[in-house]
Amino acid sequence: MQALVYQPFQPTDRGLACDGVSIESIVEHVGTPVYVYSAHAIRAAYRTLDEAFAAHPHAIHYALKANSTLAIVRLLRSLGSRADANSGGEIRVALRAGLLPAEIVFTGVGKTRDELEYAMAIGVGTINAESAGELDRIAAIAGALGREARVALRVNPDIDARSHPNISTGLRINKFGVPLQEARGIYRERRGRAGLRFVGVHVHVGSQITIADPLRSAAEALVSLALALRDDGFALEHVDLGGGLGIAYEGRPIVTADEYAAAVIPALRRSGLPVVLEPGRAVIGHAGALVARVVDTKRYPDGRQFAVLDAGMSELMRPALYGSYHRILPCRPRHGPESPWDVVGPICESSDVFACDRQLPPLEVADLVAIVDAGAYGSVMASNYNRHLLPPEVLVDEDTWDVIRRRQTLDDVLALEL
Ligand SMILES: *Cc1c(COP(=O)(O)O)cnc(C)c1O
Repeated sequence: MQALVYQPFQPTDRGLACDGVSIESIVEHVGTPVYVYSAHAIRAAYRTLDEAFAAHPHAIHYALKANSTLAIVRLLRSLGSRADANSGGEIRVALRAGLLPAEIVFTGVGKTRDELEYAMAIGVGTINAESAGELDRIAAIAGALGREARVALRVNPDIDARSHPNISTGLRINKFGVPLQEARGIYRERRGRAGLRFVGVHVHVGSQITIADPLRSAAEALVSLALALRDDGFALEHVDLGGGLGIAYEGRPIVTADEYAAAVIPALRRSGLPVVLEPGRAVIGHAGALVARVVDTKRYPDGRQFAVLDAGMSELMRPALYGSYHRILPCRPRHGPESPWDVVGPICESSDVFACDRQLPPLEVADLVAIVDAGAYGSVMASNYNRHLLPPEVLVDEDTWDVIRRRQTLDDVLALEL
């Protein structure tokens, strides 16, 4: 059964709207480009996941790296979410948003000594270690601080997430975690080591996973490890399945939250342990759009036609980074036949393309378009390339909206320069 996924960006007689609030009316106040988010969509996506796992004890640790704007993290916290942080910066943002240190899991390949010391000093819930060497550094720091670090080891089960190669993380060739078959030995060698308390096991096999198989296989592999460790006398408190659940960028059905839960809960039951989930994209992806204006159009003699926007890879890097697909919705579709358009940004890079040969109604200079499903890995990856200024972010909640991050100014950027 395909659960309905709430889509906040819909046409109305006042043009495209987010939860019924006209995009044009927002742009009139804040200009373009701008990221627009739906609070309703965030709540709906969070609750869908939470309810899908109702049959098993679980904690949702929203992955801040997908979108860590304070107002969004606060909203998720108000729904009961905890946090998955990938850096010292994300830990600090989680705390600013009101999360407690114990509600944070700290993951990430390549944690610095400063980051580890900070995480241990405040007492984060769990540090997901990425290597034996990192465990040993954690033990040494814990010793120096006179603390005990709560740790889990991230395992790499060599499972193909069958997502894009750049966002698959659970293959032998990837830099993440330790090989599954080495994990047990690494735990055993450090059993009773002062400063380390092994509280869990961790896996995250990739992002934008659209089928249940890799998620099920990863859960089964992780639970087998957890059971072996229990036999070895480790008192684990949870298994952490990471994130990775995809969203339907192209509108084709993909694995739902319910199907994901159904695929992993049998293994979780065998473990007898609560599960930690670290969803990012599945919570925030559909909730956001990047709204931009057409600044130029042109046609080549071979018929190829371009619409150049005032936003590019500096505002939404995913298409340039992974060739990813985003639907593009004109805010007021013009009458006339659809034809293929290359929708591109203004950046001096040939990969600065949002869509090639996309069937769209006629586009003209000054038209507004929304690049939808841009809530995850959009604003967080934005840069000042070509001296673009970071766009503002707007959160629509019921029938009102607020600027949750103002537009960056050139003075903001130049303030760093001496
Ligand atoms: C990126 C990441 C996540 C979130 O991934 P999504 O695909 O956005 O759900 C969760 N856990 C870890 C360890 C990650 O690196």
